Amino acid sequence: VCIDPAPPEPALPLPNITLAGGGPVGALLAHLLALRGFTVDVFEKRPDPRTAGYEAGRSINLALAERGLHALRTAGLAERVLSLAVMMRGRMVHAGSAPPVLQRYGVDDREVIWSVSRGELNKLMLDAAEMAGVRFHFGHMVERIDFDARRLCLRDVAGVQREHRFELMLGADGAGSAVRAAMHHVDPLGERVEALGHAYKELEIPPRPENGEARFAIEPHALHIWPRGGYMCIALPNPEGSFTVTLFLPGVGPYPSFATLPDAEHAADFFDTQFPDLLPLMPRFAEDFQAHPAPSLYTLYLDRWHLDGRAVLLGDAAHAMVPFHGQGMNCGLEDAVELAALLAGSPTDPAGVFAEFQRRRKPNADAIAAMALENYVEMRDSVADPRYLAKRALGLR
Ligand code: FAD
Repeated sequence: VCIDPAPPEPALPLPNITLAGGGPVGALLAHLLALRGFTVDVFEKRPDPRTAGYEAGRSINLALAERGLHALRTAGLAERVLSLAVMMRGRMVHAGSAPPVLQRYGVDDREVIWSVSRGELNKLMLDAAEMAGVRFHFGHMVERIDFDARRLCLRDVAGVQREHRFELMLGADGAGSAVRAAMHHVDPLGERVEALGHAYKELEIPPRPENGEARFAIEPHALHIWPRGGYMCIALPNPEGSFTVTLFLPGVGPYPSFATLPDAEHAADFFDTQFPDLLPLMPRFAEDFQAHPAPSLYTLYLDRWHLDGRAVLLGDAAHAMVPFHGQGMNCGLEDAVELAALLAGSPTDPAGVFAEFQRRRKPNADAIAAMALENYVEMRDSVADPRYLAKRALGLR
């Protein structure tokens, strides 16, 4: 019996996508949409990091966890990213003079997280998105948006103003999002910024040369923590043998705070008493402390993530959070997967898609932001508390 196959569904017309921000979240979303047949233009204010080098504005490496890995798998990128990453089996706690102790994340190496270079990850994602057909416009900063005329006003690196007409505007342009500011101008988004009162500074443990080879100076397969009650240092490994160390400390206030460590000399005295095992591992301590900034940490909350069917925010542009759960980017990559799937499912109903996207993702982002705040207290304090360790040993945590 010959049965005629059902005629193919007429293809739905796909709107052209304009995306601001070529960071990890923007690059993944652009890639996933291009794979589904959308035409995607990405405007990124920085020059192309693959040719201009990566300017490390914020943290040099990131913890990649299952949320982010799952998202990368949907774009076929997980294996390539993992080949650049260092496995971290748990937290290695350096409490006072006692020897460091590894608190594993799970029973074995199936439950681990990964340290990956922000720059290398971004470059890999840009390559993959470009291969899928995404058009990147580097050195183009979003300045203003006329949502009625659907016109994007850009400024290029030479200072020349340009315009781009858009159908749908997606904002993945990070915590200081220009898209968010423009949307807020048309219809307030209920924005609230809660400062943590703490800031961070990045330092480095270089590789230790041994028989002509670069070796890790401390255990490579762990996220190291030096908890000190009200503040802490952490260190994440890099594949070439170094560690990026981050000092988290109150920004202002009585000793110790960044305000009471005005220069490298005061800071070295502070480290000598508080982190005596760490200081000798950082031969460039004075130079790094003096040269590196100490940005403040905060959480961004919005009541609304979208402007009807014209624009939507995702990643840090929608929900910047403090970094203590190591989940900000991981959460943003999940956003990208969800938004790409919804847009592909209903490309002619962007207002419905954006509302549904917010309905599904905002409770998750709010919960992760809350856990990130709680985890600061856990990392800087509880992990060294004998009662906490006893509970862990009994499997109560
Ligand atoms: P971004 O990474 O900020 O990218 C936004 C992009 O938009 C940038 O390329 C920027 O140049 C571009 N842009 C900005 N403005 C414009 C404009 N006007 N026009 C055009 N382009 C523009 N997350 C984790 O998951 N794990 C971690 O371990 C982790 N550690 C962190 C440590 C620290 C100290 C900090 C501060 C954050 C950490 N995070 C971590 C959070 C993580 O960095 C962010 O969640 C993640 O970078 C968000 O990605 P994004 O693409 O949304 O934004």
